[in-house]
Amino acid sequence: MTSHHKETYIHNNEFERLFHLTKKLLSISRSNEVLSEFIQALLDFYPESRMFLLLTHEDNQYTDLPIAYFERNIKFKNEVAFRAYQTGTIQVDEKNDERMLHIPLKGLQAMYGVLQLTLPTSKVIEEADFEILKHLADVSGNAFEKARLQEQLNQRLDDLNLLNETSHTLNSNLRLTDTVEYMTKQIQSSIQAEQVGFFFYNRYGEIETLTGSSEYFFEKNSEMLVVKISEEVKKRKEAFMITDMKNGNIESMYQSLLAVPMIHDRELKGAAIVLHHDPYYFTFEQFKLLQSLIYHFTLAFINSMLHEEMEQLAITDQLTRLYSRNYLDEKINESMEKDCLGTFILFDIDDFKQVNDTYGHLTGDDVIIQVANIILKNKRETDIAARWGGEELALYLPSVDVNKGLKIAKRLVKAVQQSTSPSVTISGGVTYWSAKKSEDTVTKLFNRADQALYEAKRSGKNRIVVDSSTSSDNLLHEE
Ligand code: GH3
Ligand code: MG
Ligand code: MG
Repeated sequence: MTSHHKETYIHNNEFERLFHLTKKLLSISRSNEVLSEFIQALLDFYPESRMFLLLTHEDNQYTDLPIAYFERNIKFKNEVAFRAYQTGTIQVDEKNDERMLHIPLKGLQAMYGVLQLTLPTSKVIEEADFEILKHLADVSGNAFEKARLQEQLNQRLDDLNLLNETSHTLNSNLRLTDTVEYMTKQIQSSIQAEQVGFFFYNRYGEIETLTGSSEYFFEKNSEMLVVKISEEVKKRKEAFMITDMKNGNIESMYQSLLAVPMIHDRELKGAAIVLHHDPYYFTFEQFKLLQSLIYHFTLAFINSMLHEEMEQLAITDQLTRLYSRNYLDEKINESMEKDCLGTFILFDIDDFKQVNDTYGHLTGDDVIIQVANIILKNKRETDIAARWGGEELALYLPSVDVNKGLKIAKRLVKAVQQSTSPSVTISGGVTYWSAKKSEDTVTKLFNRADQALYEAKRSGKNRIVVDSSTSSDNLLHEE
């Protein structure tokens, strides 16, 4: 038969409908609209039919349509559908009182799926019907292909812009927490992830969640998931995706997971985990995009870590892990600018030479650490404890008045006497500054505390003395 003959099978009014549908389908620019229009057109021609579309490529923009995916469990279950897919021709299958037509959806470049149209066997299917179906499938296939290519191109442009912007921001020397927070937001918005978490292995090889990860990763019930993914990451050393967590051994309310290791200098530093409640949520393209993002992030992460470690080294005393004296200086200066008052306490361990002489320097060091830990344990978050030098330690209490400071200092004297081993005592000098008083400086503050400390030693040790100018301010009411 020639095509000329075939056309005569189609009735005139149907021919007109077909013509309009063709025009319409080819004008649609979104692929999901092409599919829904295709399905609608078939329903218009065959109102008594049922429709089901099997697609080869997973895509969550088609969720409103009666669609399943070849890739999942259906793959080879339906032989006839698969034959339609392979041959690109309509296949008919009859079962019970129903007839199922398998109509391939193809473009110039690829096969996109198979539409299954179910009709009662009572409905007569003529040659013209096949022509209509074939025509609609051809036009829809081409329109779908065109729309998809355009969508993919747009997506790729978006991805490139995102990568460009991200690497630019990451290179602008953000602090680690800001970097992580920024990445979390970028990933959430670019691939519509619900949760984004980052963990790294600290120097003891333990998992540490990075501040700036989304909230789920700070909840107790995420711990098991992170541990299991960490094991998997160590085993595979490459990115992986889990499309449906129900099939695995990880229990979670999230069903889609992407995991991307952070690797630097061939060493596994940690990983990113991305989650969504729905199964099969993330596409392969999104998975690839995430890998590029994490690649950029890892470099920035390593840089920030090194930077912060160096900073930390510079501001902490290696023996006690208290702050260095320089850092204390800086912080008191800052406080004098922004706060109204502050209290400063200088401690010195009593008869420390004897400790060294009796137990040796190592035990001496340990005693200094013990005293430092007692101070750390008793101070508040905002207080700054520092190693002043040798066995002299300092504590600065921003916005704390001298009465309160004195109480804290006395409490520390007691705690040191009670809980050091071998037992030592400390003496301390207390002073304060206030915006109300005349001009004060850090050096003057230190000198007054030192003076008071000297007085504490002279008057018998194991005690706190408030500097003389402060006590003459008449601020103190002894209890
Ligand atoms: P006082 O009660 O008057 O403070 O008597 P003291 O024996 O503690 O005298 P002083 O503060 O003058 O001496 C401190 C000694 O602490 C001197 C030094 O050998 C020792 N020392 C300083 N730094 C360290 C340290 O880091 N480790 C050890 N083990 N000893 C230290
Ligand atoms: Mg000393
Ligand atoms: Mg001493």
